[in-house]
Amino acid sequence: MKTSFYQFTLPMLQEIFLANDLPATGPAKLYNWHYKKRRTEKCEKDFAKVSQDFVAENFSFELPEIDSLQKSTDRTVKFLLKLSDGKKVETVLIPSNKRYGICLSSQVGCAMKCSFCHTGLQGLERHLETHEIVGQLLAVQRWLNAERPDDNDIATIVFMGQGEPLHNFDSVKNACEIFLSQNGLSLAADKITISTAGYLPGLKRWKAEMPDVNIALSLHAIDKLKRDKLIPINQKFPVEEVLEIVNSIPKQKKRFVVYEYLLARGFNDSKEDAEKLGKALQGKRAFVNIIPFNPFPGAEYERPSKEEIDAFKEQLDQSGVTSLVRFTKGDDILAACGQLNSRS
Ligand code: SF4
Repeated sequence: MKTSFYQFTLPMLQEIFLANDLPATGPAKLYNWHYKKRRTEKCEKDFAKVSQDFVAENFSFELPEIDSLQKSTDRTVKFLLKLSDGKKVETVLIPSNKRYGICLSSQVGCAMKCSFCHTGLQGLERHLETHEIVGQLLAVQRWLNAERPDDNDIATIVFMGQGEPLHNFDSVKNACEIFLSQNGLSLAADKITISTAGYLPGLKRWKAEMPDVNIALSLHAIDKLKRDKLIPINQKFPVEEVLEIVNSIPKQKKRFVVYEYLLARGFNDSKEDAEKLGKALQGKRAFVNIIPFNPFPGAEYERPSKEEIDAFKEQLDQSGVTSLVRFTKGDDILAACGQLNSRS
């Protein structure tokens, strides 16, 4: 049975070539052809016949299929992608200054069950393989090349789609290595951000194993009871321990940390909540993204008013913590943070 070419980091591919007595230059050439040059046909140019035959026999180049898509008025596009076993995940293309960011999923569903999240309601169906994560980007890139050829540059990647990326550590790590590879997509490390709800086992591995990409930590509340309700894994992995691990990750292993704070009316948007948040982050060179809650059908929270959001931010400003209110794009097509659900 063939294995997806997009499953392998460059060192893995080099090992496979070595084990099969194939020319050592082959893996870099393949990477260059399929990732850097974005070629979809077989690599035959300056590529040994014996390697061509091996690739044809052993590797597949299938990508997730676009099952359906929705376009927002702000040019955001939400894709429902179908995987080879029929499962579906959502991937979102977000316009930003004439370029795009892409929001990738790391799992079908999610085990973390955050109470504000549409995906959390779905539960975990399975982890995504590396090739299914890389495949989301390649499938969307092909769509862009065909549909918006003059405006097709994907400049940043965020793992903020369906799933807790650090719960699927190995596949996410390998996908990042493919995105970063100089022979491959050659993205800069500060263009990739992995968002976590605070999954401690994955954060503990980060120090030793993750390439030096950015972390976004979903804080959402400092108060234990409130955070337990929003992010139930807080009961097992308390926020104090999570912050301690994040703070202990050496600088070169985390370009910077963004703290996400989802603001829900009457729940975590009081003056006191802002003071607690400011106190917890003071002196940490922290940057907070304040995300007004994005409603979805059946949601138990509400979005605060503009005045309530401004008041929360002003209170946080007083503690000297830098923040930005992020009005997420694509909420008219349920493509914003926390709104994704591949069964919808
Ligand atoms: S917010 Fe993220 S971690 Fe929480 S349930 Fe949703 S997808 Fe999972």
